[in-house]
Amino acid sequence: MPKSRSPFTMDCWNKAWIIHGHKLACRHCGAKQCPTTDEHPFRHTDTCEMSATGPRYPWKELNDLLKADLAETRRMLH
Ligand SMILES: [Zn+2]
Repeated sequence: MPKSRSPFTMDCWNKAWIIHGHKLACRHCGAKQCPTTDEHPFRHTDTCEMSATGPRYPWKELNDLLKADLAETRRMLH
């Protein structure tokens, strides 16, 4: 079975984003996004260097990372 791995790691994600209460914030500009708007690309401030890397969906990335972690954990247990 081919193993598809996420290009992002949890360490990578943690360097760019941080959870503030129930919102997710950019570590560079402090812009925040609610989980209820995870269908929309994250909106950085105009001056944020992260905004140059294109639209991102940090909630989806986090979700994918958590799922990948879970799959990895299950694989190790069996
Ligand atoms: Zn930002």
